[in-house]
Amino acid sequence: MKSVTEHLNDLLDGIEPLDPIEVRLGEARGCVLAEDVTAPWPLPQFDNSAMDGYAVRTDDLLAATAANPVELDVIEDLPAGRAPVESVGLGQAIRIMTGAPMPAGADSVVPVEATNGGIRVVTMSAPAIRGAHIRHVGEDVRANDLVLQAGTVLGPRHIALLGAVGHGRVAVHPRPRVVILTTGDELVEPGNPLEPGQICDSNGPTLAAAAWEAGAVTFRVGPVADDAELLWRTLEDQLVRADLVVTTGGVSAGAYDTVKEVLSKLGTVTFTKVAMQPGMPQGYGVLGEDRIPIFTLPGNPVSAYVSFEVFVRPVIRRMLGHTVLNRPVIGARCLAEINSPAERTQFVRANVSIAEGAYVVEPVGGHGSHLIGGLASANALIVLPPETTKVAVGEYVRVLRLDQGE
Ligand code: AMP
Ligand code: MG
Repeated sequence: MKSVTEHLNDLLDGIEPLDPIEVRLGEARGCVLAEDVTAPWPLPQFDNSAMDGYAVRTDDLLAATAANPVELDVIEDLPAGRAPVESVGLGQAIRIMTGAPMPAGADSVVPVEATNGGIRVVTMSAPAIRGAHIRHVGEDVRANDLVLQAGTVLGPRHIALLGAVGHGRVAVHPRPRVVILTTGDELVEPGNPLEPGQICDSNGPTLAAAAWEAGAVTFRVGPVADDAELLWRTLEDQLVRADLVVTTGGVSAGAYDTVKEVLSKLGTVTFTKVAMQPGMPQGYGVLGEDRIPIFTLPGNPVSAYVSFEVFVRPVIRRMLGHTVLNRPVIGARCLAEINSPAERTQFVRANVSIAEGAYVVEPVGGHGSHLIGGLASANALIVLPPETTKVAVGEYVRVLRLDQGE
């Protein structure tokens, strides 16, 4: 059997970040920047007022006191967004709003609160400080500065900067289009009536949500019946819109394991056993002329989900251009005894929390790979390596956090 790491490396082999495209700034959040971005202009772009007040000449106010205030003629009203027409001369002021360009002649801004707020004539009762309340050109970013490096994961703060330097569009690695295809005669789309023996397709919505959370654009297909011809046709149809195809079900050794039956024959998809629990049967390969990667996950819901987390999520993230592919793994003190099979990596559904400033973790929800109720109450997976067969209470274990990782 292959180890989890070997299998993951095989899957990642040959997966590259998708070729960059230009997207509008509003669509860039969460994407990885594919170009270095420089500032075409400085920030601020021009000297401007940091306050609502009056642009003045400090020399005019040297003698101003409360007892002997100085009156200045207000010669212009300058809101943000308008260029000054006048320049400030001897005994003059311009009423100026936050963000408005500093007029020539003025070397300070006196906040409106420090004046009588006059419209034609303003009264000043203290000297002004040269340069006060002025935001200076380039004090934040200089023209031609490298403002963001390729590889940056764009969040709101980076988008603020891109917007300020006028990038309406930006080159990013696009979100991979992931087709989630579920298979099984017994499956019915949730919400539709069930006949005896049928169950709801929970893997489809689960993996679509997980792929979306990983940063992909997802398309759900199915549930597709266990019919070789139908499955093949459906797969072929989907290839045009897929950067990655993920299937669930039909990969064991049963009589109706159609995925395995259909894809084994192609010679481009390999079925293998990975030394893990849950999630042992795994298949991977490529389909069609464009050699679209396909991963076939087991059908049991917990196996499918854990396989997605361990194998598919890192692949989606590589396609997105991320360099950190895995969720954070932390060390935590285990609150219960765990028995684990030898020679397999075990992923134990668990709940991690902080007690007295340190991480503690507790298994939840049982072992069976059909136990979805327990899965929902887990926020982490304890990862027990193949050589571990027993964990004692209080021992430290490695914990993969399912609720973290951009
Ligand atoms: P299979 O790998 O197709 O043999 O499926 C293994 C188990 O997982 C069976 O009990 C299936 O009914 C169940 N299963 C397969 N696919 C799904 C799905 N999409 N949603 C929920 N359960 C599933
Ligand atoms: Mg099946």
